[in-house]
Amino acid sequence: MAVRSLDPADRLARRPLRTARGWRLWTVPPGALALILGVEMVAVTVTAVSVSASFGDCLTVPATAKLMALLLLSIAYSEITYRMQRMRLYLGGAVMIGLHSVWAFAGVLILPICYSAALVCGLFLVAAMRRRQQAFGYRFTYTGATVVIATLAAKVVATAIQPRVAELPPGALTAAAITTAAVVFFMVNATLVIAAVYLSSDSRSLTELLPAKEELGLEAATLVLGVMTAQLSLRLAWLMPTVLLLLLLLQRSSLVSQLEIAAATDSKTGLLNAAAWQELSQRGLLHAQREGAPCAVLLMDMDHFKRVNDTAGHLAGDAALKAVADALKRELRGYDAVARFGGEEFVMFLDDLGAEEAGKVAERILSRVRGLAVSGAAGMRLSLTASIGMAVYPQHGQTLTELLEQADSALYSAKRAGRDQVRLPHRPG
Ligand code: GH3
Ligand code: MG
Ligand code: MG
Repeated sequence: MAVRSLDPADRLARRPLRTARGWRLWTVPPGALALILGVEMVAVTVTAVSVSASFGDCLTVPATAKLMALLLLSIAYSEITYRMQRMRLYLGGAVMIGLHSVWAFAGVLILPICYSAALVCGLFLVAAMRRRQQAFGYRFTYTGATVVIATLAAKVVATAIQPRVAELPPGALTAAAITTAAVVFFMVNATLVIAAVYLSSDSRSLTELLPAKEELGLEAATLVLGVMTAQLSLRLAWLMPTVLLLLLLLQRSSLVSQLEIAAATDSKTGLLNAAAWQELSQRGLLHAQREGAPCAVLLMDMDHFKRVNDTAGHLAGDAALKAVADALKRELRGYDAVARFGGEEFVMFLDDLGAEEAGKVAERILSRVRGLAVSGAAGMRLSLTASIGMAVYPQHGQTLTELLEQADSALYSAKRAGRDQVRLPHRPG
């Protein structure tokens, strides 16, 4: 019996190569396409210019030895973490520079400019060979181009501040050169990545694309490890593999936290999933019981959503669900538990709110939903509405299950009464 792998890395690895005409690149919006091609052309040009301008500095034994050491470490890193990296990519998240930048940034500091460029090209060539069986996404080559540009920009800035940066002499000038180079390296990468994602999607706002605090922390740690690698290569080269060990630990712990988030998240909307909601709300209810405080459960179902799918298509329906989820997040407090309960149903747990205040929140949510519209074919716009059933502790139930049952029956009454409204249960539970 054939066993089918569920591992996304395996499935991707078996995808056949596409011909140029079938590249997904040609399907991106014109603005994004212009940026991608422009950045790739700039990357090729600056690489050619920097290699030809500083070729003479490179052909020395110490410089070549450092390049080889960094390349070997980066190959070892790629090989060991191949699956982990695929998983990290698969889980998403705003990866601006990626952990492989440890080697690229070390190269910025200690290698002559042509070898800095060669190292990045080598890094991506190795990664490309590792992916030989699968289609090369345009994202892969674009990422390579952004790292090349960031590397060369950081190198130019570092050398302008401290001409002897490659020797890392102790002192304020070197510290300033390293810090500025790190900022330039990060900013160039982040700006080019954010710009491409922004131009490729019509629904995301710029603020949504900015990296989260944890992601920034991880990227700062990557650059610090790059500085450590550079220092070790100059003074204690035999200790360089310890950086590899640290990087593996860093990657593992970041993957664990990404997996934890993914396990609690509904991938379509970015809200909590039902299981995570249940756990959080159970804790909230226990807290309310201890404090003698009220709390409310709101169950919301989109009205006539089948019609939305039938007229605007399933993809537009999915985009509408994401827009509703974003509206819910905006309308609720940061600590309110809000989840997609399944299909086009959403559920909310509101701490410390009695029937009156929770009712006002529910009304606000419905008016927000009314303000959303789905774009269908031929510029057609469909407006959205939803119905909400609400149950409040302690009037309508003592346990989460009772509150959910009561909210569900209230939702049913809201639907029967004509939809687009909030209802409480008829009788106390
Ligand atoms: P009602 O006002 O009575 O709720 O009418 P309705 O059409 O919304 O009926 P119901 O809630 O029973 O149907 C849910 C529909 O929502 C069916 C399905 O096509 C659609 N739906 C469920 N999940 C998804 C999803 O993830 N994406 C999209 N696009 N549609 C979904
Ligand atoms: Mg519905
Ligand atoms: Mg439904």
